[in-house]
Amino acid sequence: MTLSQGRSYLAIPGPSVVPDRVLQAMHRAAPNIYEGALVELTHGLVPDLRRVARTQGEVAMYIANGHGAWEAALSNVVAAGERVLCVATGRFGVGWGEMAQALGIEVDMVDFGLHAPLDPERVGAALRRDHAQKLKAVLISHVDTSTSVVNDVAAVRAELDRLGHPALLMVDCIASLACDRFEMDAWGVDVMVAASQKGLMLPPGMGFVFFNDHAAQSRKAMTRVSRYWDWQPRSRPELYYEYFNGTALTHHLYGLRVSLDMLHDEGMEQVWARHETLAQAIWAACDAWSSGGDLRLNVDDPAHRSRAVTAAALTAPDATRLRQWLSERAGVTLGIGLGMAPPGDPACDGFFRLGHMGHINAHMVLGMLSSVQAGMAALGIAHGAGGMDAATAIVADCA
Ligand SMILES: *Cc1c(COP(=O)(O)O)cnc(C)c1O
Repeated sequence: MTLSQGRSYLAIPGPSVVPDRVLQAMHRAAPNIYEGALVELTHGLVPDLRRVARTQGEVAMYIANGHGAWEAALSNVVAAGERVLCVATGRFGVGWGEMAQALGIEVDMVDFGLHAPLDPERVGAALRRDHAQKLKAVLISHVDTSTSVVNDVAAVRAELDRLGHPALLMVDCIASLACDRFEMDAWGVDVMVAASQKGLMLPPGMGFVFFNDHAAQSRKAMTRVSRYWDWQPRSRPELYYEYFNGTALTHHLYGLRVSLDMLHDEGMEQVWARHETLAQAIWAACDAWSSGGDLRLNVDDPAHRSRAVTAAALTAPDATRLRQWLSERAGVTLGIGLGMAPPGDPACDGFFRLGHMGHINAHMVLGMLSSVQAGMAALGIAHGAGGMDAATAIVADCA
């Protein structure tokens, strides 16, 4: 029998759950894109986006997903033939480096594999080998969504400063923004990339590039920048049609207004604390299940785990069986494993991910976890007892 009727729950690491208030704000007739309410609303978004990213810098908005925002960020500050250092802790870190290569940029890769955060000393060693200081930028992921590793961004800034290296620090916060604590200015980040469909709780379609003065100077020194990705007109909302390089993102902007209101009403500290507690509940359940079966969290040390996404492994094909059972029988969709085994390899059926980013609360997470436990029981997947007791204790303790 299926028990999946009712409101379904997409617990994948993006797109995330869109709040009803955001959906309602987007459900309207097409607005005028030249003047009036939409133009005014856009002016007000910029200071509020800065508050979410903890920056005094600029933000450019694009009609683009995260891959588009990756390209936008690179296009403004790194020319073909120039060199960057790409620091990878999973599939997305590698992906940004591949994007740079496809733009004709030379990429030095420092890869930390699939289970560990970046080691600032090894990044420092790679920077030291760059005697002529030719590296234009260091690309890192704050959270790599494939592995659920979180990286110490400020430690990379400290290495750059210690060596007096002028490279821009460019950070992918697509998974982490408004989930894992991130402080753009305090951590010395020059360029930060985000997208709408994760912690910002919108549908996909909107990309963001935040940048500081240092990065703005690098942009000005470029001889040529793609007309579409150029962030200069996009940081001047008074030129409204130029601002979006064509038609504005009409409905997303109404949705973003509401999602930013929701984040500010809750407060960023509280938003991060909520993600922290709910992540701990998930890890507590997983630890208990691990004690009597094959389930393994991808990252051993909780200090190196993201609060937005949790990657885990089961013996193949149990991860896929579990995901299928959950979506067909319980109305919960879990994320597939990504980048843990070559595409098409049967080993891919041994990985899954839990998305816990954005519009999530205790009952959603506890419902998802107990559905996972029910699925393991139904499928005969061995697991330790006490998972739900452990998770509910975390929620009870914090209340
Ligand atoms: C989701 C994600 C991306 C890719 O975003 P798309 O919108 O799918 O292009 C890149 N990096 C990270 C860290 C992500 O979580």
